[in-house]
Amino acid sequence: TERSMALSDEAKKVADAFEFGDEAVRKAVTEFIRQMDEGLKEDGKYLSQIPTYVTAVPNGTEKGLYMAVDLGGTNFRVCSILLHGNSTFSLTQSKVKIPHELMVAKTAKELFAFLAKQIEAFLKEHHSEHYHGHISRRTTSTLDEMDQNVKNGVREQEIFNLGFTFSFPIKQIGINRGTLLRWTKGFDIADAVGKDVCALLQNEIDLLNLPVKVAALVNDTVGTLMARSYTSPGKSGTFLGAIFGTGTNGAYVESLSKLTKLTDGSTETSDYDKSTGEMIVNTEWGNFDGASKVLPTTSYDIELDSETVNPGLQLFEKQVSGMFLGEILRKAILSLINNPAIPLFQDENSSTNDVHSTTTIYPDSPLFKQWGLDTSFLSLCASDESKGCKPIRQAMNKELGIHASSLEDAEAVKTIAMAIGRRAARLAAVPIGACIVATDKLKSSNETIDVGVDGSLVEFYPDFEILIREALRAIPEIGEAGEKRIRIGIAKDGSGVGAALIALVAGNVG
Ligand code: ADP
Repeated sequence: TERSMALSDEAKKVADAFEFGDEAVRKAVTEFIRQMDEGLKEDGKYLSQIPTYVTAVPNGTEKGLYMAVDLGGTNFRVCSILLHGNSTFSLTQSKVKIPHELMVAKTAKELFAFLAKQIEAFLKEHHSEHYHGHISRRTTSTLDEMDQNVKNGVREQEIFNLGFTFSFPIKQIGINRGTLLRWTKGFDIADAVGKDVCALLQNEIDLLNLPVKVAALVNDTVGTLMARSYTSPGKSGTFLGAIFGTGTNGAYVESLSKLTKLTDGSTETSDYDKSTGEMIVNTEWGNFDGASKVLPTTSYDIELDSETVNPGLQLFEKQVSGMFLGEILRKAILSLINNPAIPLFQDENSSTNDVHSTTTIYPDSPLFKQWGLDTSFLSLCASDESKGCKPIRQAMNKELGIHASSLEDAEAVKTIAMAIGRRAARLAAVPIGACIVATDKLKSSNETIDVGVDGSLVEFYPDFEILIREALRAIPEIGEAGEKRIRIGIAKDGSGVGAALIALVAGNVG
C-alpha cells in the first residue's frame, strides 16, 4: 500500500542516521588509539587507562580455594571458588540486597561492617572448617583430594585470599589498594570518599577475627579477562576482556614500557611484579571520545545525553550499552509517531487476525516515559524473522501499550531497532580493534588472539559478534586474515572466578 511504502521510507531515513560505515570505523579506531596513548602517559584523560597491578594471566592450571565478594549496585555477593587446575572450578555463592539506609549511611564503617558480617555468615554456613580455625597442613594433593578435603572440612591454607570486586570509580594504587573517587548508582557516603576501600573492608573483617585477607581489588572487566583465560586457555592467554551489559568497558594486556605514567615515578604506587613486562590495563572505554569527534551522533543521542545525570561523559557507553539502547529506540519511535507526513501507529485500517481495526496507542504507554523501553526489545526485534512480525506486534501490544499495530508499523520499528543494534555492535569493534592494533598483537606472533566478553547485550542480541567481526575486517591493519585470528568467547559469570584468580596472583606476589 501507499502507507506502507511511505512509512518504510521514513523508517529508512531514521535508520540511516545510525549508519556507522567502514570509513567511520577506521577514523574512530585511529582516534581510540590516540586516546589510549594519552591515557597511558597521564591521568585525567578521556580514557583513564587504569593500571591494575595484575601482571600475568592464568593458563588454566591454577589451583586452590579462594573467596570473592562483589559490591555492584543492588546486591552484595559472597562466594568461594575452588580452582581445580584443569580449567574448571566449583563455586558456592550467597547474595544479599544492600539495605538502602546503608547506601546512604553517615559513616563508611556502617556499610563495611555489614559487608564483613555477610562474609562471616557465609563462612559459618559453607566453610565452618575455616571459621573454627581447624587447620590441616598438607603440601601436595590431587584434584580429588582437594575436593574431598573441602567436603570434609579440612583446609589447605590458613587464610582465605579474597578478591574484592568493587564497581565504583577508584584510583587504584596497588593490587589491593585503591581510594574511592566518588559514589555512583545511588550510593552516597561522603565519609568513604578518598579512603582505601580494601582497608575499610579488612578492618571490619579483622574486628570479627575472620581468616580472610583482602588480597586484590578487582574491576569486573579484568575479572572477565582472567576468568576467560583460565577457562579457555590458549597458547598465550587471553588478551582482552570486555563487558557489553548495562554499561560497557574493557581491559587488555599492555606492555609496562608503554604505561609510562606508572613507570616514570610520577604517580604514587605500591610495589608490583615487573618480571613479565606486562600489566592488565583497565581502559574505562565507556568514556571514549569525550569531545565526540568521531562518534556517529544523532539528534536522539544528543537529547538522551542531555537528560542523563552525567551529560558529556560516557558518550561511547551511551551509544553502545544496554542501559541506553532501548531509550534511543524509544526516542526514534516517538519521532515517527510525531511525523506529520506519515505518523506511526495511526493506521485506521490495520488487520490483526483478519479483523480490521484501528491501531491505538494507550496514553499510559511506556513509550511516553523516559527509560520506558528495555534493550531486550531490540533483541526481540532483531530475532523476529517472521513474515507477519507477529512476535514484535505481540510485544508492542503487551509491553508497549500499542493495540492492533499494523505490519508496516512493526516493520518500521524493526528497521530502526536493527539499525541501533548494528551501530552498537560496529562501535563495539572500535575498542577491540584499536587495542589489537595499538599493541601490534597480529604482527608480534602468529597465535590466536583471545577476547573474553560478558554482558546481556553480547549474549542475547542476535549476531552481535558477527556484526563486530564485519567491522573488524574494515580495519586495514586487521583485515580478513587478521579477523580470522581473533577468537571471541563468552566468559559467563566470570566475575567470581576472575576475582579469585586475581586474589591468587596477588597472593603469590605479596
Ligand atoms: P550487568 O551489566 O548489570 O552486570 P547484564 O549483563 O545482564 O548486567 O546487562 C543488563 C542490561 O542488558 C540491561 O540494560 C538490559 O536492558 C539489557 N538486556 C537484558 N536482556 C537483554 C536482551 N535479551 N538483549 C539485549 N539487552 C538485554
